[in-house]
Amino acid sequence: MTDANYSDSTIVTISAVDWERLVIEACRNGQIRLTKPRRAIIAWIAGQHTLFSTEALAAAVATLPERIGRATAYRMVEQLRETGWLSRIRTERGSYAYARTLPGHHHHAICTRCGATLIIEGCAALDTLYALLETHGFVVQNHILELTGRCRQCRLAEAARRSGA
Ligand SMILES: [Zn+2]
Ligand SMILES: [Zn+2]
Repeated sequence: MTDANYSDSTIVTISAVDWERLVIEACRNGQIRLTKPRRAIIAWIAGQHTLFSTEALAAAVATLPERIGRATAYRMVEQLRETGWLSRIRTERGSYAYARTLPGHHHHAICTRCGATLIIEGCAALDTLYALLETHGFVVQNHILELTGRCRQCRLAEAARRSGA
């Protein structure tokens, strides 16, 4: 389906370059109308390695030579979310932020320090929970699951700080 790199059976990593290429392909296939300003928005999002807010995107693209307006930036984020290329995440402060993802059903593990995101493919990890609920007569029809924590890099940085480096 995609060129995403399967580092093991369940965690998908996708580079910024691959994400940008796949989104542009999807646009060309008619998912999203591709204009010069929209291309610039896609490029800016591809360059983000952490969560970003629509405010940050709008502020950044307003300064580009294309002078992209707020409404265009917001509409593009909505379209990328509807077509599955962005995931909307509620932050600990209660506001919304966005992370690059791939279309389809995925879960995300998000670093609350830097916003780095791991995409989790498949829901097999929930089998035990489903079985447990069934013993209580509950049949699960749908689920939403996002995990938050610390990424490897942030944990290493924190450990280095603690050791007084
Ligand atoms: Zn992190
Ligand atoms: Zn799932």
